Amino acid sequence: APTSAAAPKDARIVIENAVKVYASAGEAPVRALDDVSIRIAPNEFFTLLGPSGCGKTTLLRTIAGFEQPTSGRVVLDGVDITGQPPFRRPINTVFQNYALFPHMTVAHNVAFGLEKSGLGKDEIAARVDEMLALVHLSGMHRRMPAQLSGGQQQRVALARALAPHPKVLLLDEPLSALDLKLRKGMQIELKRLQRDTGITFVFVTHDQEEALTMSDRIAVMKDGKVLQIGPPQEIYQRPQVRFVADFIGETNFLKGRLEPGGVARIGEAAVPLASAQGHAEGETVTLAVRPERVFLHPGEAASPDTLGATVENIIYFGTDTTYHLRVDGLPDPLVARVQNRDQSSPTFGQGARVRVGFPPDGLSVLRD
Ligand code: ATP
Repeated sequence: APTSAAAPKDARIVIENAVKVYASAGEAPVRALDDVSIRIAPNEFFTLLGPSGCGKTTLLRTIAGFEQPTSGRVVLDGVDITGQPPFRRPINTVFQNYALFPHMTVAHNVAFGLEKSGLGKDEIAARVDEMLALVHLSGMHRRMPAQLSGGQQQRVALARALAPHPKVLLLDEPLSALDLKLRKGMQIELKRLQRDTGITFVFVTHDQEEALTMSDRIAVMKDGKVLQIGPPQEIYQRPQVRFVADFIGETNFLKGRLEPGGVARIGEAAVPLASAQGHAEGETVTLAVRPERVFLHPGEAASPDTLGATVENIIYFGTDTTYHLRVDGLPDPLVARVQNRDQSSPTFGQGARVRVGFPPDGLSVLRD
């Protein structure tokens, strides 16, 4: 089972062993959710990340109540809500295409979900003001959706979804229709909205950078399964599964053999590991290391924990330089990234001989 140092004790939503099987005539059944268990804390920004078809939307729709799981439970604040219809759940959804009512003003759009709430006219007006201020659209009450930019329309959709003060807001790729610059701005905005309201956000994306920059925790999904759950730093620095290391950021994969004393034998080198938990001595494993955690030392001075290598290719990026290396005794090339802090940062020419080293906590032992 996926593990995380930061699984919350105090949960707003608990998804317990959720399975969803879609059966269509003439096709093999699809396990869109394959035994998914997740606990989400009351004021978390929680992200479901994974490639197309991995089950993110199905999981979100199961939390909203638009889908019934084939088996398993959805629990909200300790109450089993699996069988509850969507409109009874204190949960709202913001969709990718925002779906504003085109013939209604901004204020009407935001007020729409409040009409059945039992609030009086003045309370509704006050709530609309509060929500438009929250999304920085004060004074836009009388505009029609067509008179707003894409980013402003998305803010109205957010204001509308937040207006009834739901306990949970589900967001299904809400930024994917926006251009890159707007999208970056809205990422910061969404994070702020979540902090300011304290509402649980469950955010779906297939964009790893978006997930890393916005989330308190991320669940990485593939083929209906959750492979790893953790804060962005943990997912990035300590991937446990090959797919997670590969899907998020750039990664070098190395073959190694686990030796006594928490050491990995990689080619000629014996490299200490911070952790090889769950793996046995003598086992041949795949190790992951990020390019920025590969250390380059000039020259040939051998030490038992480094490997000799030749610089094959140099790519200068301004802030950093990427080196493609051919490492002695290893079948695959290795990528190293060195930050160009100042004039004293080391540089290596093409064909230079270097020694390659790894910090113990820079190497992650992977499961397949
Ligand atoms: P995307 O990022 O492309 O939206 P996703 O991760 O949200 O993908 P889902 O939409 O949850 O993935 O789909 C998961 C799997 O379930 C896919 O294989 C999909 O084809 C299948 N699926 C989803 N809805 C249905 C349905 N109503 N009937 C049959 N199969 C479905």
